[in-house]
Amino acid sequence: MSSYPIEKNKSLKPYNTFGINVSCSYFITINSKESFLDFLRDNKLREQPLLILGGGSNILFTHNFDGVVVKNEIKGIEKLKEDNNHVYLKAGGGEVWHEFVLYCIQNNLGGIENLSLIPGCVGAAPMQNIGAYGVEVKDVIEEVETIEISTGSIKIFSNAECKFGYRESIFKNEEKNKHFITSVIFKLDKKHQFNISYGIIEEELKKEPNVPLSIKKISDAVIRIRESKLPNPKEIGNAGSFFKNPEVDKMVVDELLKVYPHMPTYPVSENKIKIAAGWLIENTGWKGYTEGNFGVHKKQALVLVNYGNADGNAILELSDHIIKSVFDKYKILLTREVNIH
Ligand code: FAD
Ligand code: NAP
Repeated sequence: MSSYPIEKNKSLKPYNTFGINVSCSYFITINSKESFLDFLRDNKLREQPLLILGGGSNILFTHNFDGVVVKNEIKGIEKLKEDNNHVYLKAGGGEVWHEFVLYCIQNNLGGIENLSLIPGCVGAAPMQNIGAYGVEVKDVIEEVETIEISTGSIKIFSNAECKFGYRESIFKNEEKNKHFITSVIFKLDKKHQFNISYGIIEEELKKEPNVPLSIKKISDAVIRIRESKLPNPKEIGNAGSFFKNPEVDKMVVDELLKVYPHMPTYPVSENKIKIAAGWLIENTGWKGYTEGNFGVHKKQALVLVNYGNADGNAILELSDHIIKSVFDKYKILLTREVNIH
């Protein structure tokens, strides 16, 4: 008997926030490192293609998955150590990210309050170095623990070894599909450093002038902003931003600004400027575009949506059309943030 449940021919519709109705040949739920090692020893299952799934909030399925889907349900939050300034917490990869954020806030631990209400699991947070409102998770990650799939050995990646970048990490590049992230160790602040430089947060905080600034106040503000702007996947299928914000050479941006002086730009380094992909898509006329049961969200052009029973391939094709028309108009090549399967 295996130490994990195995289900056959299972629909993945409830397991991806886009709500795409595809199925997988096998679906297993893993709630401990030992169970994952058991799975690696099962030669029959190991012959099959493998897909690791957290909350399914950064995935677009375009076809049935002819293989094994491993749903990460490794739970647990443990305090490892503490010094004058920091508390080190180890969280299981299957913990729900937002619940972990709330746990930190309840325990007065700062650093991830700006990342409130991001869907998905702790184990996927390092994958694309999740970020929002001026904070990236790399700022608080101490180590990432994985099981290497080919050997079954435990590997520890220090923050530097994760090679974090803008929505990037080693796990999306050189080490892609080679690891199962079992837990993440976070270094959280006892002495809070509030990050409210992101314009819309400052505005939202001003609505409660009598409430003193705190990590809870910031988290509440982020939650309110997100609830007002972003489609709730429980109501409209989506995977958040479909495209990354392009980082473009300053010289190219300077030329574009001569033609489009209102284009929002954010400096990344001396020579690179970030351009809001949402603005490029909106100004190519796609915002609110609808084709049958899918399209581009009415309030946020960066988010593609499934209004019900859409085919993942049709959404992928729509993303190709968007990429082409943005390129034709601005000569900027958008890349997808969402993982296509
Ligand atoms: P999944 O979609 O399940 O998986 C994503 C990728 O990681 C897949 O390739 C999967 O195979 C791999 N993976 C997952 N878990 C593991 C593991 N344990 N080990 C190895 N590989 C694994 N992202 C942001 O960065 N910032 C935002 O503000 C943000 N807002 C969002 C808002 C909405 C409404 C939605 C729907 C999405 C948003 N996202 C955002 C995208 C998404 O929530 C994050 O990328 C999140 O971290 C994905 O987590 P997940 O558990 O759902 O990952
Ligand atoms: P927004 O506030 O309308 O801003 C549009 C874009 O401009 C953002 O993508 C952001 O880049 C950039 N930007 C705005 N103010 C900035 C500043 N002060 N400094 C640097 N860059 C700035 O964006 P939104 O769509 O409502 O999202 C708000 C935040 O949540 C953003 O950080 C966004 O990344 C995050 N978010 C991410 C996803 C996802 O799936 N990845 C989904 C929803 C929201 P950045 O994206 O680099 O911050």
